Amino acid sequence: MPELPEVETVVKSLKKRVLNLIINKVEIFYPKIIKTNISVLDFQKQIENRKISDIQRIAKYIIFVLEDKVLISHLRMEGKWFLYDKNEVYDKKHVLATFHLSNNKILNYHDTRKFGTFDLQDLNDYKSNNPIKKLGPEPFVLEANSNYLYEKMSKSTRHIKTMLLDQTIIAGIGNIYADEILFDAKISPLITGNFLKPKDYQRIIESSKKILKKSIELGGTTIDSYQPEQGIDGKFQNELKVHTRKGKKCYECGNEIIKLKVNGRGTYYCKTCQY
Ligand SMILES: [Zn+2]
Repeated sequence: MPELPEVETVVKSLKKRVLNLIINKVEIFYPKIIKTNISVLDFQKQIENRKISDIQRIAKYIIFVLEDKVLISHLRMEGKWFLYDKNEVYDKKHVLATFHLSNNKILNYHDTRKFGTFDLQDLNDYKSNNPIKKLGPEPFVLEANSNYLYEKMSKSTRHIKTMLLDQTIIAGIGNIYADEILFDAKISPLITGNFLKPKDYQRIIESSKKILKKSIELGGTTIDSYQPEQGIDGKFQNELKVHTRKGKKCYECGNEIIKLKVNGRGTYYCKTCQY
């Protein structure tokens, strides 16, 4: 599943390749992908002949700025954006939408699981509407000495790992990075929010920034066959300290990394280093 660093990688790559191109025509092969309450025809009408004037990322959402409209894309489990030349042959099997661009380019939204979503909104107020409105801040905007997480989490009896995945509290942390952040902060994923002190929360903020920044630099993590674009692999999988390392030796203490479920999510951690 693509997380914040992978989405950032996708955005950078798309920006290089489709910025300022015009969307001449849109084909939608899976109408349920459109979450805005408009018909496919309206969706097409509102997008066609607009320029891709910018591409941004907010948490795990890709924001295609189409002049005064925005197309908000969430990749969920397996969504991918693939770019082709007009005459290039490609497998249409899992293509849910095709955008015919100027410059003889074709931009396909590809999704084997069909969980990805499109929202079409106005540029001037999309941040005050869902899905963006409900998102908490990204770790990058929090000062390390901020009490934000402490205020949001310290009265809760939920596990810290579960709260880090709650996008309404803090945006952009997914399953892989929650494990890595908690290992870096030396905090057990199983501890509940009410047992952590302000300095623990500050460590979590520092570790979140550090881990996400490093992964963005390395182009994200390529595991479970997720590729941000054709032929491009992230490199952060080589930096993983706990995630996917069940039964292997902890790099810090040599004890075995264990895997268990926290609120249904596969969770890796070191019992000795994290408490
Ligand atoms: Zn350890």
